[in-house]
Amino acid sequence: MEIPVIKKDVIIVGAGLAGCAAARELKKSGKDVLVLTKLHPLRSHSGAAQGGVNAALSSDDDIELHIFDTVKGSDYLADQDAVELMCSKAPETIRWIERMGAAFSRNEDGTIAQRPFGGQSKPRACFAKDRTGLTLLQTIYEQAFREGVEFWDEWYVADLLYKDGKAYGVVAYNLRDSKPAIFNAKAVMFATGGYARAFKINSNAHANTGDGLSIFARHGLPLEDMEFVQFHPSGLAGSGILISEAARGEGGKLYNSEGERFMEKYAPEKMELAPRDVVSRAIANEIREGRGVGPDKMAVYLDLTHLGEEKIMERLPELRDLAITFLGQDMVKEPIMITVTAHYSMGGIPVDIDGHVRKSADSFVEGLYAAGECACVSVHGANRLGANSLLEALFFGRHVGETISKEVDSLELISANEEEAKNMLNEMEFILKNNGNESTASLRQELQDSMFENAGVFRTHDSLTKQKEKLKELRARFKNIRIDDKSKTFNTDLQEAIELGHMLDYATFIVEGAIARKESRGAHYREDFPSRDDENFLKHTLAYMDEEGNVSIEYMDVKIDKFQPQERKY
Ligand SMILES: Cc1cc2nc3c(=O)[nH]c(=O)nc-3n(C[C@H](O)[C@H](O)[C@H](O)COP(=O)(O)OP(=O)(O)OC[C@H]3O[C@@H](n4cnc5c(N)ncnc54)[C@H](O)[C@@H]3O)c2cc1C
Repeated sequence: MEIPVIKKDVIIVGAGLAGCAAARELKKSGKDVLVLTKLHPLRSHSGAAQGGVNAALSSDDDIELHIFDTVKGSDYLADQDAVELMCSKAPETIRWIERMGAAFSRNEDGTIAQRPFGGQSKPRACFAKDRTGLTLLQTIYEQAFREGVEFWDEWYVADLLYKDGKAYGVVAYNLRDSKPAIFNAKAVMFATGGYARAFKINSNAHANTGDGLSIFARHGLPLEDMEFVQFHPSGLAGSGILISEAARGEGGKLYNSEGERFMEKYAPEKMELAPRDVVSRAIANEIREGRGVGPDKMAVYLDLTHLGEEKIMERLPELRDLAITFLGQDMVKEPIMITVTAHYSMGGIPVDIDGHVRKSADSFVEGLYAAGECACVSVHGANRLGANSLLEALFFGRHVGETISKEVDSLELISANEEEAKNMLNEMEFILKNNGNESTASLRQELQDSMFENAGVFRTHDSLTKQKEKLKELRARFKNIRIDDKSKTFNTDLQEAIELGHMLDYATFIVEGAIARKESRGAHYREDFPSRDDENFLKHTLAYMDEEGNVSIEYMDVKIDKFQPQERKY
C-alpha cells in the first residue's frame, strides 16, 4: 500500500478552543498550518462548557486577586509564573474573543455580566447564558476558518513522529475509510483535551480518552501531575452529566437527607462556593455517612427553587433542560439530585509557559508544543478553579500559536517516509485480526468502575495498590481483545479499542502518581495521609513509562515567587 506523506509547516492535533486559537494565530501570520481532529471541530468538548470564563474585568476586581485565588485554589502546586501570565492577560483575552464576535451576557449598563464561581474572591466568570463554551468555540472556529485554516475532520491521530529529541509529524488514519497518512511538519502541536473518561461517573464527552497523553508516553516522554483529577461537585445523579457551577454561582444551595445545609460544617465562610475539591469531598462524605438522597442514597439535593422561573430561564436554561431530560426533575419546581462526577484533568503533557514540551525536568523536545486541557503548564496545580480552563485553553492556545509562528522558520524539516506508519498499522492490524475473547465495552466498564472506586475522591494505599493490580490484569486481558466489525468504513469498534488502549496507559500514570504522593493536596485526597506535606511533596510529579508498561517517578520544582504556601481555609 502506498501511504501519502503530507508536508506542512505546522500540524495541530485537536480543534477545540486551544487548537483553533493556535491555528488562527498561525494562519494569520502566514504559516502553512493543518488541523487534524477526530471530531468535527464544533463537537470538541470545549463546546460543552457551560458556566463561564474568568477575567478580572470589573472595577472592584484586581488581577493580583485573580492570581492569588488561582494559586490558593491550586493548593500552592501551580507554577506562579504561568498563573501570573494567564491572569494578567485574561481581560485582553476576553476583549479579543468578544471583538471576534462572541456575544457575552450583559448587565443593564451594557458591561459584560460576571457571576461568582467557587474559590474566587469576586464575581469573575464572564458567560453567555449557560452555553459559554459553545459561543466561544463557534466564534474561534468561524474565525480560523475565515482566515483559511485547513481542517481535516474525522482523522484519528495514532502516533507521533519522534526521534533524537525532535518531533517531525504524526501518523493518522481517516475514520471514513481507515486509510493511513503521514503528516510531516517542522512543528507539531497537541491540543487533544482531557481524560476523565477513565472514571465511571464523569461529565466528559465520549471522545475525552486522553489519546495525546498516551501517544507521548509510549515514546518515553514524561507526563506531569497525573494523579490530580478533578471531581466536580454537581453531576446529575446516576449519569454524571454536568450541572455547571453556575448553578451554585447563581445561588444554589446543597442539602442532605436530613434537610441540613451541610456545607456549614465544611466551609462555613464560602459555603457552596468553596472550591470544587472541598465541596466534592463534603458531598462524598455526606453520602458515605448515610445522609444521601434518592433511591440508592447516592446523591444530595441542589436547590434552586428560590431563584424563580424568570431568573432560571434567563441564566440557566440549558441546565434546567438537562435535569428535566435526564432526571425528570424541574429545578424551577423542586430540588434536583446531584452527585460528584469526574470532570477535569489538572495533569498532562508537561510544558513551559510558551508551550514547549518537556523531555525531562530541564530539557525540551524540539518542534513539539501543547496547550489546553491535555497540557500541564501548570496553572491549576492540584485543583482547578471553575472558569479558569476556558481561559487557559483560549489564552495558551493563542499564545502557543504565537510562539510557534516565531520559531517554526528556524526549525528543520526532518523528512518522514512511509515506513514510519508501521506502529500505527501494526496496532490497527492487531486489533482487527486478533481473535481473543475480551470485548472493548466490558474491559472499559471494568476500568471505569474500578478507577472510580479505588482512585476516586477518597484514596488509600490499599485502594490504590488494588487498582494497580487491576490495571495490570486489564492490560493483560487487552491483549486478548476481539472486535466484531472488521470493515474499513467508519469502524467505531476499531477506534474505541485504540482509545481503550490509551485509557489503560494513562490510568496507570494516575494510579502510580497517587501511590507515590503520600499526602493530601487539592483534588488528591489520601485518607491515610490526610494533611498536605509541603516538606516532601511541594513538587510536581514527572512520570515515565517503559516498554513493559512500568511507570517510574521523578519530581520537579514548583515555581513559587509571589505567594508562599499557607494553610488553605474557606
Ligand atoms: C461539561 C463540561 C463543562 C465545562 N464547563 C467549563 C466552564 O464553564 N468553564 C471552564 O473554564 N471550563 C469548563 N470546562 C472545561 C473546559 O471546557 C475544557 O478544559 C476546555 O474546553 C478544553 O479545551 P481543549 O481545546 O483543550 O480541548 P477539547 O475542546 O476537548 O478539544 C480536543 C480536540 O482534540 C481532538 N482529538 C483528541 N484526540 C484526538 C486524536 N487521537 N486524533 C485527532 N484528534 C483528536 C478532538 O477531536 C477535539 O477537537 C468544562 C468541561 C466539561 C466537560
